[in-house]
Amino acid sequence: MSENEKKLPLLIDSCLPFQIEGQDIKGRVVRLGRSVNEILTKHNYPDHIAKLMGQNLAFTAMIGSLMKYDGILTTQLKGDGAFRVLVSDFYKAAENNNIGDIRGYASFDDDVLDGDTLSEMFGDNGYMAITIDQGKFMERYQGIVKLEGETLTDAAEEYFRSSEQLPTKVMLSCEKDDNGNWHAGAIMIQHYARNTEDELGRDELETEDHWNTASVLLGSLKQEELLDPNLSLQNLLIRLYHESGVRIFEDTHIKAGCRCSEEKIRTALASMDLAELQEVAEEGTITVTCDFCTTDHKFELSKLVH
Ligand SMILES: [Zn+2]
Repeated sequence: MSENEKKLPLLIDSCLPFQIEGQDIKGRVVRLGRSVNEILTKHNYPDHIAKLMGQNLAFTAMIGSLMKYDGILTTQLKGDGAFRVLVSDFYKAAENNNIGDIRGYASFDDDVLDGDTLSEMFGDNGYMAITIDQGKFMERYQGIVKLEGETLTDAAEEYFRSSEQLPTKVMLSCEKDDNGNWHAGAIMIQHYARNTEDELGRDELETEDHWNTASVLLGSLKQEELLDPNLSLQNLLIRLYHESGVRIFEDTHIKAGCRCSEEKIRTALASMDLAELQEVAEEGTITVTCDFCTTDHKFELSKLVH
């Protein structure tokens, strides 16, 4: 621990927003422990798929926590390759603005090979769609990018390039430690151009220089540091940006959570054709498994209202 670093509370399962002092550069850093473990352990996917899913969960939590109001942000990767779909979503309730729920699932053929690039896994027509739904507050938004790069980090940077047109640097990581526990992390910085022409002219070179330095520093971050549960997120940021100084804001707590509801499934089943239901029922019981949390919801056919 260097002299700049202090003993600070370890924030795990958190997203921490920050700004580099005196510069137009803002960022966010996420580290997931318990939440990502809970989700990945339940699904028990092969390790290379779990890693991709952990990265997607960290990425989704990072951008989802940017939502000002309550709502749902969904990141969906789809294609016509062996990997059919990878979904994560982040939900923030109106009652508590500093807590978010994440969940996710994947659907794939058994021949998704280890070490494949994203474009190979998802086929020629693979894409990533990010949907933000904040109900009454804002119009539903959807941004789509083709999966042309090798990694999810490439896809994330391409998304920011095309949707927000702000220079953005991203790093995503997910690994399993020797004890079999999963750790996922995400960090991003964005360059906010100055607004007035006067400021643009005056500071263009300096601002460019700031951005290049901040990007190089982020590039120097090792995956082990991003995931290290003993290095606090605050100290990670201080380690990276202590020369210019870094301002850290209030964090968002992230937990694993699913919104599937027995009531909603019951209503959906009740509106279906009875003959169809009888076909899928086993000994008079219909089982509906939630893709996200793998919970089996069971309904007695005779008790479904028609
Ligand atoms: Zn569920």
